[in-house]
This record gives sequence, C-alpha cells and structure tokens, in this order.
Amino acid sequence: MVREGLSAFEAVNHYFSDAARIIDLDDEMCAVLTTNYREISVQVPVRLDDGGLKVVHGYRVQHNGARGPYKGGVRYHPDADLEEVRALASLMTWKTALLDLPFGGAKGGIAVDPAAMSADERERMTRRFVNGISHVIGPYRDIPAPDVNTNAQTMAWMMDAFSAAHGWTPAIVTGKPVNLGGAPGREAATGRGVIDVLEAHCRHSDSDLAGLRIAIQGFGNVGSFAATEAARRGATVVAVSDQWGGIRRDDGLDVEALGTTVAAGGRVGDHTGAHDVITNDELLTGPCDVLIPAALDEQLHGGNAADVAASLVVEAANYPTTPMGDEILGDRGIVVVPDVLANAGGVVGSYFEWTMNIQQFRWKVDRFNTELADRLGLAYAATSAFAEDHDCTLRQAAFALGIDRVATASRLRGYV
Ligand code: NAD
Repeated sequence: MVREGLSAFEAVNHYFSDAARIIDLDDEMCAVLTTNYREISVQVPVRLDDGGLKVVHGYRVQHNGARGPYKGGVRYHPDADLEEVRALASLMTWKTALLDLPFGGAKGGIAVDPAAMSADERERMTRRFVNGISHVIGPYRDIPAPDVNTNAQTMAWMMDAFSAAHGWTPAIVTGKPVNLGGAPGREAATGRGVIDVLEAHCRHSDSDLAGLRIAIQGFGNVGSFAATEAARRGATVVAVSDQWGGIRRDDGLDVEALGTTVAAGGRVGDHTGAHDVITNDELLTGPCDVLIPAALDEQLHGGNAADVAASLVVEAANYPTTPMGDEILGDRGIVVVPDVLANAGGVVGSYFEWTMNIQQFRWKVDRFNTELADRLGLAYAATSAFAEDHDCTLRQAAFALGIDRVATASRLRGYV
C-alpha cells in the first residue's frame, strides 16, 4: 500500500506514474513531465489600512505548455505553498489535455488569509502580485483564473493591473465579471460541470441522478453551484458544509434558501430550517449515495476512507483524495470520478471566455451551457471507455489520456 504523508506534488506524481505505466511512457518523457517548466516565487509587500506593512509571498508555477498557453487558477490561502502550487499546476496540464483544450497547465497562490484583510488591502495585494508575475503571463503565455478565496472581483483587479501596462487585455484572465468581458455561465461552470459529469456517469451506469442522495463538502463557488444544479435536476442534497461545519437533512436541504444565506455573507451553519448540525468529518462519512468533496486538498485519506459511506465519490475539489485514501476507496469498490475530469467545467468555461475575448464576441448562456455539457460528456465517455479497455480506474484512465496527448505534443515540439 502507498504510504500516507506524501507532499501534494509527490502525490500527483504518484497518480502520474500509475497512469504512465499503462501507456508505457519512456523514462525521459517521465522526467520532463514530473517536473515544472518554470516556478516563480515573488515577494508581495502590502500596505495595510492602518499604515503598517505586511509582506506575503506569491507563487506562479507553469508546469507544461506544449499544447498551448499555461492556464490555471490563483488561490489565496494560509496553507498555499510552492509544493501545493506545483501539484495543482501539474493537475491542470492533465485536465486541459483530457478535455482537449489548447492550453497547458499552471497554478498560482498567495500564502495569506484574505478574510483577515479589507477589500482595499486585497486589491493592493492582487495588483502587486500581478506586477511581480506580469513578465510571464499574457493572453498567449499564461492566463490566470479564480480558485479558492479568489473571485470575479479579483480577476477584474488582475486584468486592470495588467492592462494598465499593456493596454486593454481582457483575455489575460478568465472568470471576470460579465460586464468586463466575462462569459455568462462561467461563474457557475465548475459546479454545474460537476453535475454534468455526474449525469454522464449515471447515463453510463444506467442509474438516475434524480434518485441520488448527495453530500457536498464546501459551499463556495464550486460547492454552491454543484448543490443548486444537483437539486434542480432532482437529486436530494442531504448534507453540505463549509469550513465552520455542516448541516444535514435526510429528506433534502432547501438549497436555494441556503444559497441566499451564504450569498448574503452568512455561513452554512446560519441556515434556518429543520436540520441536524454535523462536523466536516461527519459530512465525509455520513450516509449518502454520492460524496462530492468541493473544498480543499487531502480531505479523503488513510484515516477516513474506510468510513466513507457513499458508493461514488465525485472530486469537485482539486486533489481531495490522497493516494492512500484512493487505494482504500478502490479496494472497497467505491468508484472515484477524478478531479481532472469532474471539475474540468471550470477550465472549459474559461476556454470559452478566452476565445470570446480574443474574438470580441459573446455567446448566450444557453449555448455556453450546452457546449459545456457536450465537452464534459465526451471527456467522460473517452475516460470510461479507456478504463474499460485497460481494466483500470477512471483516475488512471483520465491521467493516461491527458499524459499521452501532452507527451505527443512535447515530442512534436522537440522538448525531448
Ligand atoms: P471557494 O473559496 O469559493 O470555496 C471554498 C469552500 O470550501 C468554502 O465554502 C469554504 O468555507 C470551504 N472550506 C474551506 N476549508 C474547509 C474545510 N477545512 N472543511 C470544509 N470546508 C472548507 O473555492 P472554490 O473556488 O469553490 O474551490 C473549491 C475547490 O474546487 C478547490 O479545490 C479548487 O481548486 C477547486 N476548483 C475550483 C474551480 C473554480 O472555478 N473556482 C475550478 C476547478 C476546481
């Protein structure tokens, strides 16, 4: 059994090696694809509202750009560090390749607790970070997007900071506000896409989404839209949580009312109505058919995977399952739809936004949602067919398909 305690990047490379064996990838290509092309660490001094100075550190890691400009989100979190950003950048490479988008993989982060800062301080920090990385980003170089604790407003500041030096450049970031070049549908795309992928899985396994009981960890951008979309399509959302804890109701939570509470600045725990209060640990192991981790890394691991009650895990978060957790879930016959497939709706939506910005054109939201579901459905079908042909897991299949495309492009471009 694989040991617990791998760093995030070691863990992602464990998943990489597992899949690379299936496609007989040679050692030289493995050496290129298990390391990053470029890693930047920048000092970000932030002038605080009280006149003091806080110095934080920001990172941008570009993993592989053989198939197009680097693409990946930026997260603000106290635990963000270079090793985590490396892991998330690598996942983006496999995700963009699996979805056959003309992008490579990147990720960024600032080690900071943004909740402890004012909006003005966050804005100054964001602009300073963009200044620090502006020489390696660009609409055909590297295109950031929102991730944990960043949103459309953060992207608007990033776009403005970049445009101040380079002229009007909406395609420098995706996930922008709609009236600044954002795509209608992009904000909901990751969570909605999670449910599109779940629906594709249901079709494939002759089950019905409408009959499923779903538990969702995390009620931010991804978790809240996934919950809304699951409920809209007839599933029963029995439990949700945020970083402060969760709530559960066996005959289904009122997801719309919950969304209103959280959108107004409340916590999941502020929701009124009949429900039980639960901890995040109880959310992960409580009774349900489908568990959707949509919060942070390493939530399912050697210590709790044996207690997961769901028969299906759909990874809306990036790297929510450690290799040991994954092995335990697999041994127990629990199917895992991996992050690189399950949450790919975000980067597919970002691709739509980027192409619209380049063409100075905009789709209606219905077209956005239809094309999103089509692309995710195709990726699910390719992944499940590969898994059946090679008698492997969906994670191994998704990685193998992505790795093969990146390796081919890297060879053709003469990287190796
Ligand atoms: P977010 O900041 O909008 O929301 C995060 C949610 O997780 C919040 O509800 C927060 O309270 C909760 N949370 C934080 N720590 C927790 C903990 N210890 N236990 C339980 N809940 C906790 O972030 P997001 O954009 O929704 O991202 C969530 C995950 O989805 C991340 O792994 C991210 O990388 C991934 N993801 C995001 C996007 C996107 O478009 N935003 C795209 C693909 C993948």
